Amino acid sequence: MIDADETQSGNIGRVLGVFAHPDDPEFFAGGTFAKWAADGAEISFLIATSGDKGSADPDMTQERLAQIREDEERKAAAALGVKEVIFLRYKDGELFPTLELRRDITRVIRLKKPDVVVTLDPTRWFGSRGINHPDHRAIGAATLEAVFPTARDRLNFIEHERDEGLETHKVGTVYIAGAVEPTLTIDVTASVERQIESLRAHKTQISDMDKMAENIRKRSLDPNSPPEYPRRIERFHVINMR
Ligand SMILES: [Zn+2]
Repeated sequence: MIDADETQSGNIGRVLGVFAHPDDPEFFAGGTFAKWAADGAEISFLIATSGDKGSADPDMTQERLAQIREDEERKAAAALGVKEVIFLRYKDGELFPTLELRRDITRVIRLKKPDVVVTLDPTRWFGSRGINHPDHRAIGAATLEAVFPTARDRLNFIEHERDEGLETHKVGTVYIAGAVEPTLTIDVTASVERQIESLRAHKTQISDMDKMAENIRKRSLDPNSPPEYPRRIERFHVINMR
């Protein structure tokens, strides 16, 4: 697999990031979203759950946690330069690539008409490095299915046209973040600090912000860059749909 450096520059157009949990977009692709937003891209996030299981606090309820985490995600997105976050409010930890989820993602694709869709890898495991989170796998699978062929073909979920007047839409490019087999490297040297700032909004999820910042700087370091000019990167598996 070729691992090419990015070739495009300038405005990438309309972008829809589709993820499972609040904090996924910032964690998996925050440097790239910040970079694209600075270049003038119009970015929306679609988050399938509101992360309502992500707390060890015995006094926390799922309803309250969902509200707090939606608020954290809106602040994080704003820090990246992303203007809109849509929540589907599926149950955290129980996401499955159902037709219902595919329909809901398809609807937002037809509504927002993105040139680029960013999502997670639907693979079950990452070589011998670990097991993929079932929610991450589910959102990746449902999103790819929504992009192709569902959103493209009119008779799929015809109620979108009938009830809301939404037209079909062809997505140009899919970027898979956290990919097993990345094919594209994006230079995020100029935007990694903004990514770290956005992650600071996720107070319920990150207990040690300094350690998080250090981890992000370490994880994003291009091992081939000279120590005096450290280069930060994010990598994606890219599928061209045109
Ligand atoms: Zn997640």
